[in-house]
Amino acid sequence: MRLTVNKKEFAEQFYSRQVALKELGLEGQRRLSASKVAVIGVGGLGTVAALYLALAGVGYLRLIDQDTVELHNLHRQILYSTEDLKYPKAEAAANRLKRVNPLVKVEPVPENLHAANAEALLKGVDCVVDGLDNIATRYIVNQACAKLRIPYVFAAAIGFEGNLSVFSPPETPCLECLMPGLSDSELQTCATRGVIGATAGIVGTMEALETIKLLTHVGATLKGKLMVCDFSDMYFASIDVSKRQDCPICQAPAAPSVKAEKLVWLCGRNTANVNPEKTLELNLENAQKTIQQKHFVRVKSKLAIVFNYEGKEVTLFRNGRMLIKNVADEDSALKTYHEILAMLSKTSASSKL
Ligand SMILES: [Zn+2]
Repeated sequence: MRLTVNKKEFAEQFYSRQVALKELGLEGQRRLSASKVAVIGVGGLGTVAALYLALAGVGYLRLIDQDTVELHNLHRQILYSTEDLKYPKAEAAANRLKRVNPLVKVEPVPENLHAANAEALLKGVDCVVDGLDNIATRYIVNQACAKLRIPYVFAAAIGFEGNLSVFSPPETPCLECLMPGLSDSELQTCATRGVIGATAGIVGTMEALETIKLLTHVGATLKGKLMVCDFSDMYFASIDVSKRQDCPICQAPAAPSVKAEKLVWLCGRNTANVNPEKTLELNLENAQKTIQQKHFVRVKSKLAIVFNYEGKEVTLFRNGRMLIKNVADEDSALKTYHEILAMLSKTSASSKL
């Protein structure tokens, strides 16, 4: 069926089994199509949540992810196939979702979310969905959502276990009320603990459902509750969560402090993210011409170039951000970053370099 021929008829048929729900109906469907949702992290949880939100007809999806698609992602990150390897996840996921439901507007944002840019990346949406893999970034998202008064559908999945909640202060507690002061160094990761793809699938699907309920006012969400799941024996429990009266985030959201950001840090094993000292507007076609004179270009997409650089794998994004893999420490990552900038500045890859 060609969408351009009759969009209205396409939508009527696409959503007919959903509109048939008496709890939802046409009014609920209209609410979904008028809604804007940001999915932060398009990995195991985010691909699944974003897929079901696109299928449900959420009008606008903003997909924020800093990474590229890797082989060890594919067993659970269901929007990607082997053809997407090394492509920016945000771009590959957006391309897939546009084919899944052409009625949905999808914006790929291949960015590293940090304290200084979180509010700019998340503002203007009705709900933020958690697809993250670390607590440090979750705290930043929690703080930005509390300040912007955007509901935050929180989830985490690992092994056979999952957690889920909906934070919407001042109505509810926030993430810092529930689990303050955690550090990623004391938590397990999907790399150390492992994860069954279906675990991320179930929890990501529950996130999509909570988001759909929030947007359409159907049913009762997990506001003020933490759902704890252990799929190894199908144990499910919902625990009441209380506000912490001294919570620095949701009890005093007017004055959040933005910490000074480091330019570079290691994320995962031997991988460094380097944010640009100043934001660039690279012409990737010109950059590719320069890079491939001396280095092997693995992937060139709309939003990034992936190439080999002296034993390292570098993903260069249009704004000058780089992901550098096979790097031992932050100093050598920064050295590589400056070398590549110098290489690009010798040509006209960017008028702003
Ligand atoms: Zn709080």
